[in-house]
Amino acid sequence: MKIGILSRNKNLYSTRRLKEAAEERGHEVAIINVLRCYMNIASSNPEIHYDGKVLEGFDAIIPRIGASITFYGTAVVRQFEMMGVFPLNESVAISRSRDKLRSLQLLSRKGIGLPVTGFASSPRDTDDLLNLVGGAPVIVKLLEGTQGKGVVLAETRKAAESVVEAFRGLNANFLVQEFVKEANGADIRCFIVGDKVVAAMKRQGQEGEFRSNLHRGGTAELIRITPEERSTAVRASRIMGLNVSGVDILRSNHGPVVLEVNSSPGLEGIEIATDKDVAGMIIEYIEKNAKVGKTRTRGAG
Ligand code: ADP
Repeated sequence: MKIGILSRNKNLYSTRRLKEAAEERGHEVAIINVLRCYMNIASSNPEIHYDGKVLEGFDAIIPRIGASITFYGTAVVRQFEMMGVFPLNESVAISRSRDKLRSLQLLSRKGIGLPVTGFASSPRDTDDLLNLVGGAPVIVKLLEGTQGKGVVLAETRKAAESVVEAFRGLNANFLVQEFVKEANGADIRCFIVGDKVVAAMKRQGQEGEFRSNLHRGGTAELIRITPEERSTAVRASRIMGLNVSGVDILRSNHGPVVLEVNSSPGLEGIEIATDKDVAGMIIEYIEKNAKVGKTRTRGAG
């Protein structure tokens, strides 16, 4: 097969591993920087141009679209879909997962366990917003944040009010969320391929840090997850309409709660922590499922 990996940097661990795994299995691979793609949308024959040439003959693409280029990146994925090329994750599913509020609303509608969450833009009544999620301690999160930036633990009501007021002053959209203290600074990343959790790791924040992000010095190790956690992760991914995803779960007193469903989950942390060939499993999934024109939109709204 001819597989395109949509990535801006061929040296990234995930990009390298996917290329290597595909080539090992006898496929031809091209790494495509989406920002260099351009296209004629009005043409009746959809095509994508790249450095003066037409991209042709692809059987499948693997979108690895960074959060900062979601808008243009998903437009390029959509164009591939119009050309009948099988995308590992569809453009609508990627867009859906990038909108945190829309994602939480979809998951909640389908009964997935979530931390008690309120969202707001410019609330006049900070008190009532905080009451909505049970008061301090509380987590306040900027919607645009990644890698744990913009995630604040306000331990007292006074601190929570100050953070909410500061965010309001920035005209930022934010969430207030029940602080799941019993998670003890750890979360679980479930890596989904198709309808299976193929690997799972526990990420633990540094001493005194409630955020477990590896970028913030957290450590990762292999973990055995419960059947309930497994089915929660698989269902969350399916609701988002993603074939491959990273579902982040906290262990709360009221069962597993989903924090986020990531549509371009990194391979480095999970492959190293679990010693599994996740890249190989992704390529195998493509071999089984990539059929020309199989690009129908799945998942809810
Ligand atoms: P990002 O998408 O920026 O990584 P997250 O919402 O995943 O932001 O939060 C970063 C980390 O903070 C999580 O991995 C988790 O360890 C911790 N965290 C986030 N929300 C909560 C919460 N409600 N209760 C306890 N810990 C949380």
